Parts: sequence; C-alpha cells; structure tokens
Amino acid sequence: VEMFMNPIKRLVNFNEQLQRGMSGFSRFKELLEVDPEITDLPEAVDLTDVKGLINYENVSFGYDNDEKVFRNINLEIKPGKTVAFVGPSGVGKSTLTKLLPRFYEISQGRILIDNIDIKTVSLESLRRNIATVQQDVFLFNGTVEENIAYGNAEASKADVIEAARKANAHEFILNLQHGYETDVGEHGVKLSGGQKQRISIARSFLKNPPILILDEATSSLDNKSEKIIQQSLDKLARGRTTLVIAHRLSTVINADQIIVLTENGIVERGTHRELMEQQGEYASLYNEQFSTELAG
Ligand code: ADP
Ligand code: MG
Repeated sequence: VEMFMNPIKRLVNFNEQLQRGMSGFSRFKELLEVDPEITDLPEAVDLTDVKGLINYENVSFGYDNDEKVFRNINLEIKPGKTVAFVGPSGVGKSTLTKLLPRFYEISQGRILIDNIDIKTVSLESLRRNIATVQQDVFLFNGTVEENIAYGNAEASKADVIEAARKANAHEFILNLQHGYETDVGEHGVKLSGGQKQRISIARSFLKNPPILILDEATSSLDNKSEKIIQQSLDKLARGRTTLVIAHRLSTVINADQIIVLTENGIVERGTHRELMEQQGEYASLYNEQFSTELAG
C-alpha cells in the first residue's frame, strides 16, 4: 500500500480519501486505474468503433472469494438505451456497474461489449469507451481546465469550454476568480458539490464515450442543483448506452429497462409501466418512495 500512496498523494486531494479509510483506497485504485492484479492479456486488442451493446452472461462476483455479492446475473442492454438499476442499498448495484470498466475481476461468467469479451481487450481502450459520473467527484490538484481535460490530452481550450457549456458549468467557471485557470483541489478554491459535479459532467462530455455509468450522481445535492444537473445528465446520456443507478425513482421512470436488484439477484425487469402493472417489488418501492417524497 505504501508503495503507491506517495505518488498518489501528490496527484489527488487526499483528505476526502483518508476519511473513507480502506474503501477510499479502493476508490483510488479505480480512479487511477492502477490495480496491479488487473492487466491486459498478452494478445489484448483495442476496443474500437463501439456501438454499445452490453451483455452480462452468468456473471458472479464477490469481493471475497467465498462471499458472493451476486450470482448468475444475465443482462442485455441495447446500444443507446438506458437501463436503470433500483433496489435496496448494499445489494450490489454499484458493484455491478464497476465490473464493466474492469475495476474488479469477475470470478465466473462473461461481460461483453459489442459481443467482445471485455477481458480480451486492452484496459486503456475499454475505459476510454466508458465514462462514470458518481456521487463523489474527485478533483485533481490543478486548474478547472485541467480537471475537465483530464484524460483527454488532445483537447483544446475551445473543446473544454464547449464541454463546460453542455454541462451547465461555463457560467459559474467564468465567475471564479481566475476562470478556467482557477486552482481547485487541496490548495485551491472550495467548490460546492454541485459545481464539482458539473466539472465531472463536463469531463464526460469531452471524453464523449459510447457508454455511460451514472451512479447516484445527484444524490448529495439540494433540489435546485439536482434539477440543473439532471438536465445536463439527460443531455449527456442521449445517444449513449447508459447504466443509471438512481436514488430517486422519479428519475428511473423514463428508462428503457428497469432492473430490480435485491439480495436474491435480479427479481424484476421491464419498463416502469410493465413493472407497475406487475404490482411486485418495484411497484411497492415506487409507492413507498413516492409517498415519502410527497410527504417530505
Ligand atoms: P449498492 O450500490 O447496491 O448499494 P454496492 O455495490 O455498493 O451496493 O455494495 C454491495 C456489497 O459489496 C455491500 O455489501 C458492500 O458492503 C460490499 N462492497 C462494496 N464495495 C466494496 C469493496 N471495495 N470492498 C469490499 N466490499 C465492498
Ligand atoms: Mg451504490
């Protein structure tokens, strides 16, 4: 662990991470893509011209070998479609999406993109095709511009600005003391959760991948920020295969497919309408949440 702590410390705002202890450390590995156990096969090829068809075939996974988070998951997401995962906390919704960029290795089954097993392609090309927006945004020490351009070495200033505009971030960035040159991170300005989120959305617009993962991206925001950010996320998702984990069922309603995950695996799947008619798990989750949202 010490071995990669030091270089990482210089790169990333460390405080947030320390508070999260070991789970923070696994987040590091994901963020910096340095899990030494996950590597390219010698014959790995680049994943190119991705249409965005995603298949999980009999996928089983556990962080500990003898304790599975889920077993035999089967799932198909058509190119450009949105699938929403709902279910109680801790059942493995986030984990399921993290398997797609190979942040963890599955013990059984296959995950395919455009019918190609993700284990057979280079990690760099796999991850270039996937963007993730999640609740906690990690900004690197550096300027706003560098943070948006992160991972897109060829991006011009004009590209960065265009991405920021799409993410509803351009205005607030211009209002910062040094605009796009403003330092963020450890020694820089303090940005609100919503502002950080918009920077991460801008980064995803710039990356422009065919596949998008949205993991409770708006759950730590106040209502007003949430609305603005939801709009840019809707725009971001357009035309991309999108896996969304939403804390509010109201954001799930328009998904092409809803997957209900419980400790027993996938228990229901269908559109909002189909699942409401079924009057099962989803319908009761929906009714429960809708009544608390109305009350609160
Ligand atoms: P959800 O997103 O549905 O709330 P998660 O995918 O975050 O669920 O977690 C599923 C299970 O895996 C939980 O029991 C959680 O504690 C565990 N878990 C999540 N991340 C890790 C990790 N990095 N190491 C070990 N266990 C983890
Ligand atoms: Mg989660």
